[in-house]
Amino acid sequence: MTGRPHPDRTASDDRDLPADRTFVCDDCGRRWYYDRRRCPECGRSSADASTVRLETGAVVATTTVETTPPDVRTPNHLALVRFDDVQLIAQAADADVSPGDRVRFDGSHRLRDGRERTDPRLVAVEEP
Ligand SMILES: [Zn+2]
Repeated sequence: MTGRPHPDRTASDDRDLPADRTFVCDDCGRRWYYDRRRCPECGRSSADASTVRLETGAVVATTTVETTPPDVRTPNHLALVRFDDVQLIAQAADADVSPGDRVRFDGSHRLRDGRERTDPRLVAVEEP
């Protein structure tokens, strides 16, 4: 078995990509967001998958979590967003995102206290 090693990936940290990137199968082009062992389309090992940046997506639903873990902001604004064939849940920058809005990832935020890594949050896209 060949492929790039993923030394940062563990069972408790199921994905190590920046929030605005998605996996893409090198064989069949299928994309998926949350880490998985194999391509859901052709079964190729995900160790062989590339990643691409997500552009703009459409908000499907939003929610605000008022009771969060100690290391997560309160309130925590979340959005379910569809980027073409990829659907995901991510932090929105603020409560100003509604179903039907177009959004993109932007900024640099520490999504959980105590983590060095920063990720972008979802922001509404102004469209003409
Ligand atoms: Zn595939």
